[in-house]
Amino acid sequence: MSHALSESLLERIEVVTGDITRQPVDAIVNAANESLLGGGGVDGAIHRAAGPRLKEHNRTLGGCTTGLARITPAFDLESRGIEHIIHTVGPVWSGEDNAALGSQREDVLLASCYQQCLDLAAQHGIDTLAFPAISTGVYHFPKQRAAKIALSHVLAFLTSHEQPRKVIFCCFSEDDATIYHEAIRTRHQWMSSRLTYRPDDPGR
Ligand code: ADP
Repeated sequence: MSHALSESLLERIEVVTGDITRQPVDAIVNAANESLLGGGGVDGAIHRAAGPRLKEHNRTLGGCTTGLARITPAFDLESRGIEHIIHTVGPVWSGEDNAALGSQREDVLLASCYQQCLDLAAQHGIDTLAFPAISTGVYHFPKQRAAKIALSHVLAFLTSHEQPRKVIFCCFSEDDATIYHEAIRTRHQWMSSRLTYRPDDPGR
């Protein structure tokens, strides 16, 4: 990967603080529950903003399994320019926040949520997409760990896809945004160190 490419990849992501229903994007991701009929947190905010037609529509979908995603119209949110809602069901955190347990079930399921949402966005020609911090509210997924998973899967996807062109990580607090900025900084350093690595440099 060239330096220019890694830089332009990072330009395709952005961290913002605010309400996801107010973002100027084509589609927003909802951290839903398996019923898809609404709940608390970001799910409640999205259902309120999209209006009752969203719940009526979702009744016809028959729910969604953890780690999967469904796409719907955005109903009343269309007046704000949002065309689609991608609903995904994140895992409920049940383990210890132990970095050594690298691939436990919740990590795989959370990664699957990001992958599924990105696949749907690409299939529907979505140009700009905003994610909330899936599973990090009442589902208690550790925030740093979740941000690393979100960032690595989004960057990997953007490397091989032109759409979505831009992905926004929409945080609900400045503290949450700091966690994403830190994850991006670490990733950026790692990319730069790989780019300057010279395996046959006698000076090493
Ligand atoms: P989960 O059940 O997946 O944990 P929550 O809705 O409880 O989902 O929390 C997920 C994240 O969404 C949390 O970081 C929470 O602070 C955030 N959040 C809550 N409301 C909004 C909103 N209106 N816009 C963006 N993020 C939100």
